[in-house]
Amino acid sequence: MRVLGIETSCDETAAAVVARTGDGDGFSGRILSNVVLSQLAEHTPYGGVVPEIAARAHVETLDGLIAQALAEAGCGLDDLDGIAATAGPGLIGGLLVGLMTGKAIAAAANKPFVAVNHLEAHALTARLTDGLAFPYLLLLVTGGHTQIVKVEDVGRYRRWGTTVDDAAGEAFDKVAKMLGLGWPGGPAVEAQALKGDAARFAFPRPMTGRAGCDFSFSGLKTAVRIEAQRIAPLSETDVADLCAAFQAAVVDSLADRTGNALLRFTEETGAAPVLVVAGGVAANQAVRARLEALAAAHGATHGAGLVAPPLKLCGDNAAMVAWAGCERLARGATDTLDAPARARWSLEDVEAA
Ligand code: ATP
Ligand code: MG
Ligand code: FE
Repeated sequence: MRVLGIETSCDETAAAVVARTGDGDGFSGRILSNVVLSQLAEHTPYGGVVPEIAARAHVETLDGLIAQALAEAGCGLDDLDGIAATAGPGLIGGLLVGLMTGKAIAAAANKPFVAVNHLEAHALTARLTDGLAFPYLLLLVTGGHTQIVKVEDVGRYRRWGTTVDDAAGEAFDKVAKMLGLGWPGGPAVEAQALKGDAARFAFPRPMTGRAGCDFSFSGLKTAVRIEAQRIAPLSETDVADLCAAFQAAVVDSLADRTGNALLRFTEETGAAPVLVVAGGVAANQAVRARLEALAAAHGATHGAGLVAPPLKLCGDNAAMVAWAGCERLARGATDTLDAPARARWSLEDVEAA
């Protein structure tokens, strides 16, 4: 089966074609094309994503990207078994662009349509890249979400923890902004952290030691701001040390909460846990290294213990959307052409396939 995927929920315009073969646990996925156009340059002057600018940029570029994705995959519309487009959650203007385009192609080519939940697409990426079987544990760390989810099946997600305030990626972005590192902040903070001394500042490790799997990053961000104001004006070394100490606190906090989830997973399933990390923050090497050690310490045996998608599939892309479409179509689940765009759409509200 071949599916065209379209992603326009935030500030990446993306189109991809993915193939899926086999049934049950014998399935496998292959990316035939994966085109991503970042709107970084459009939003950078404003220090964040401007919804109206994002929607207009999607309109201008999406057609061309879809044509490119089809050409690189070497297929025409007739070769497709379905069209999948992100329907939410995200910025409503951008979602409408991708969703309407996907529906129009599906109607014109007379192909099945799938309205994809963006978080489900992040959640199922590990099946495309690593052929994982259910169930597994997902740590989803993006600019908008920080969640721990037990992935039981396509459309069956149990959210065990979420952030009570900021997302982890949002905290990286805000810290970068306050330190004058520009936007988006994650990669810049990581680069600074490599040069800095994490031991110089003792920032709080939010939620650490508490039961459950919830997160909090707002207090940590404020602690960084207070310290930065106290020692201002900041030298290059100050900025690097602040970034290193902040990142170390985020890593400790993520590891503590994920550790609780790994214990619960083993308790519930009686099996060794499988830990997957997804989302833009999963590109962070310090985060990856700690999660790898944590998973190994909890007896995870799949691959290196931690299943982490390649960097290109960590951030927003359409291959994950096409794959989610494949997974749903393989179970016979399709959506009608009146499927709405949804600015808010929790993983737990996704319909079972
Ligand atoms: P959502 O998927 O919740 O709608 P999003 O699509 O904006 O949010 P992603 O594109 O998955 O999120 O990830 C973007 C986030 O990842 C940004 O907050 C960015 O700062 C962060 N990020 C990217 N690279 C790194 C890195 N190397 N270290 C830390 N954070 C990073
Ligand atoms: Mg983005
Ligand atoms: Fe995302």
